[in-house]
Amino acid sequence: MNASFEDLKRIVLSYNAEEIDTITRAYEYAKMLHNGQTRQSGEPYITHPVNVAYILAEMHADCDTVCAGLLHDTLEDTNVKKEDIAHEFNQDVANLVDGVTKISKMNFSTKEEQTLANTRKIITGITSDVRIIIIKLADRLHNMRTLQYKTPFKQKENALETMDIFVPFAYYIGAYSIKSELEDLSFKYLKPDRYKEIADKKANLEESSISCLREILEVVKDLLSAEGIPNELKIRTKNIYGIYKRLEEGHKLQDIHDLLALKVLVEEIRDCYVTLGLVHSKYHPINDKFKDYICNPKTNMYQSLHTTVFGPRDRIIQTQIRTFDMDKVDTYGLTAYWDIDKGKARETMQQDLRKKYQFFSSLVDIDTMFSDNQEFVSQVKSELFGNKVYVYTPKGEIIELPQGSTPIDFAYKLGTDVGNTMVYAIVNDKKVPDNYVLQNKDRVKIVTDDLSYGCRDNWEAIAQTSFARRKIRDFKG
Ligand code: MN
Repeated sequence: MNASFEDLKRIVLSYNAEEIDTITRAYEYAKMLHNGQTRQSGEPYITHPVNVAYILAEMHADCDTVCAGLLHDTLEDTNVKKEDIAHEFNQDVANLVDGVTKISKMNFSTKEEQTLANTRKIITGITSDVRIIIIKLADRLHNMRTLQYKTPFKQKENALETMDIFVPFAYYIGAYSIKSELEDLSFKYLKPDRYKEIADKKANLEESSISCLREILEVVKDLLSAEGIPNELKIRTKNIYGIYKRLEEGHKLQDIHDLLALKVLVEEIRDCYVTLGLVHSKYHPINDKFKDYICNPKTNMYQSLHTTVFGPRDRIIQTQIRTFDMDKVDTYGLTAYWDIDKGKARETMQQDLRKKYQFFSSLVDIDTMFSDNQEFVSQVKSELFGNKVYVYTPKGEIIELPQGSTPIDFAYKLGTDVGNTMVYAIVNDKKVPDNYVLQNKDRVKIVTDDLSYGCRDNWEAIAQTSFARRKIRDFKG
């Protein structure tokens, strides 16, 4: 799949015909600047920015973003200056191209002060306009799709970097479709044999379950139509890397129930619950497999109902029920607001960042907490790009923490006061020691007392997040 400018034009005309002239101008400008340059595949260089812009247009990105997609490599690879782009287009487009160019210069492993300072500026810059991340993800996605032209060394290097940095970014903004494609493309280059083995097994299993899924799909469709609920039903398959991770955890392939899932899309939230009732009336649910991510969204704002039922011929089938809007958010992450919230899209995206997405609020916290650049960078690396554990507050809110975190880290994540007045913690209804290591899905309650003595002497050593340690040090003065 290689999109031409004609393809790009067609898709832009379908949702933003008014600004097609500006986008055509950006294309002509980029084409002129990259004139004579070729990609490793031998194609003219402009095919790359066109495809990046195409990926963005598929998400119904705004005009500035599509233009920046077309121009994203001009600062790096041609003689044009940021001011020129601002003059030809506008300041926003120039800032976006500049931001995207800088992301590639991020360096988490350096010890050099200047590079650390730059990395910090780039990371904090991301929060000023999230569109920078989205353009960078589209850029990386097209590069990964065309990785076969690179040397084996470059392939592995790019695949690793994608896994370390860009997959987490895609996850944090909730862009599931980009995340899973990036994972599979990277995995294919990192472990080619394993990739092929799982892909084959998956294909076999899909073949044997597809008739079952079609059957349940027809039944559910009839139930919904009888109730007059507008709907769309799809079959969703898990990505290869997702399956690999489950196998690595010790699960058997036949026990991965969401390998193929039934996806039911409806218009209203209340219809989601009606649909759930209809599905359960027909197929018996497995009780402890039910999840309500509509009331309790994931930390990246994913919303859906999940229920696993005994389907036709005793097959176990996962059903995901959500609204059309929730499904857009699931596919493109917060980018989806471009489509849902036409007009004030940009504001909605920026406002939502810090309020709803834990990644961005953590980033702001870390930025205010660490003045030292080395500390800042290593903190971002371990807390945001390391492994995570997800636990619940007593109200059912999901909290994300680095793996290895303790109740002390949890308490300080809820607030400085909570940490400073914590007496002990209760996990899943049992009192636990302060150095208990939190596990996925733990329900954690912090018992506080305003008259408590404050931080215990050993807390600083027990806490895993330097975030909590820092607050403990502050408390001790
Ligand atoms: Mn590029």
